[in-house]
Amino acid sequence: MSACLFCKIAAGEIPAKFVRENERMVAFRDLNPQAPVHILLVPRRHLASLDDARPEDHELLGSILGEARSIAAEEGIAGGYRIVNNCGSSAGQSVFHIHFHLLGGRALGWPPG
Ligand code: 5GP
Ligand code: ZN
Repeated sequence: MSACLFCKIAAGEIPAKFVRENERMVAFRDLNPQAPVHILLVPRRHLASLDDARPEDHELLGSILGEARSIAAEEGIAGGYRIVNNCGSSAGQSVFHIHFHLLGGRALGWPPG
């Protein structure tokens, strides 16, 4: 997807503050952070949203949760963080390349807005 913002960030065509990358995913700091730690975990494979994930994507998506756990530990927020996936515009999705927000470093209220 040549026009996709997160495909471009994953390809290094648009700069971002990377905290981790491997052959399957990239993780970088959100441009407009909503918490002291706000990192986006993005598979390199373009899927518009979780609605587009198929069984063959499940291992990839599960591995991203594992990366989130590991990054949370690195960031010093183990035991107090939230993973968010907004699926669809009515749920707040604004970039249509699937991603998971890792948020922490402050008290997080519930329910979310
Ligand atoms: P969504 O609303 O789709 O769940 O999340 C998209 C996130 O991407 C937002 O939190 C927004 O701040 C972030 N974002 C949008 N454009 C950029 C960008 O160019 N660079 C980075 N690092 N984050 C971005
Ligand atoms: Zn994309």
